[in-house]
Amino acid sequence: MHRLILASALSLITLCDHPKLSGPPTFDGGRAYDLLVQQCDLGPRNPGSAGHRAAIDFLSSELKKWADSVETDAFTYRDAKVDTVVALTNIKGVFNARATERILLCAHWDTRPYADQETDPKKRTQPIPGANDGASGVAVLLEVARVLRQIPPVKGVDIVLFDGEDYGRGLNGDVSDYFLGARRFAAVSKGKYAPRMGILLDMIGDKDLTIYHEGNSNRTYPDHVARVWQAAATLGYKQFIPQQKYFIQDDHIPLMEAGIPIIDLIDFDYPPWHTTGDTPDKCSAQSLKAVGDVVLKVVYEL
Ligand SMILES: [Zn+2]
Repeated sequence: MHRLILASALSLITLCDHPKLSGPPTFDGGRAYDLLVQQCDLGPRNPGSAGHRAAIDFLSSELKKWADSVETDAFTYRDAKVDTVVALTNIKGVFNARATERILLCAHWDTRPYADQETDPKKRTQPIPGANDGASGVAVLLEVARVLRQIPPVKGVDIVLFDGEDYGRGLNGDVSDYFLGARRFAAVSKGKYAPRMGILLDMIGDKDLTIYHEGNSNRTYPDHVARVWQAAATLGYKQFIPQQKYFIQDDHIPLMEAGIPIIDLIDFDYPPWHTTGDTPDKCSAQSLKAVGDVVLKVVYEL
């Protein structure tokens, strides 16, 4: 750790165009929570909505504050079920582009167009605010980006914000219209991108945070799962529970299928899931900080 901080101090000397620090940079949970609220203030961010369009500009400009470079990948998805073409955009921030050993950090930024878990049938066609399911993972990664600017990582880091994770209609367990941004990223990266490790964040802002081992992650990359939960234990974050609870279909699945060694951090015990009640008051700065600190510890020590 001492060597890391010394190296960082040296790097700061060369960074004259970015803010200086009065002390060691740490993950600011309050700032991450503000970023969560700012996303929700744009309105629902489901594809085709005004909030979706505004979020592309907001997220790109936030990432540009800290990343060495930012790329957007605009693409379309043809939704044959309703005969519509959907415009989608993945957003990537790159740190230390020359490093060949890389770490992928990702989250979905879109929000679900249908609150299909509402008990009131009239609400099931409304979009969700997506405070936890959408904004939370992105908020953590934007704050992680600020810390990575202050303490440049030895390895390269790619922060990728996926669109279209939650677009699917979920009929009869069909997930072919979910994970659209991750599928796109997997397709364009296949054979060209081999990070040493990937971490996906989804629904990690619940103020009653409990993150269990996700089954697909644990089965495929148990060493990475163990590394993350060990980091949490070292930091004293009891929100990370070292037991497996759910198998989750999420953006990590198409990435795993493309050979990327990625694990999913997700708290699936969240009563407002896929309802209009998924609002910022259900989330907390403390939960975002726990996840952000764990991710940074893994990034700097991998
Ligand atoms: Zn969702």
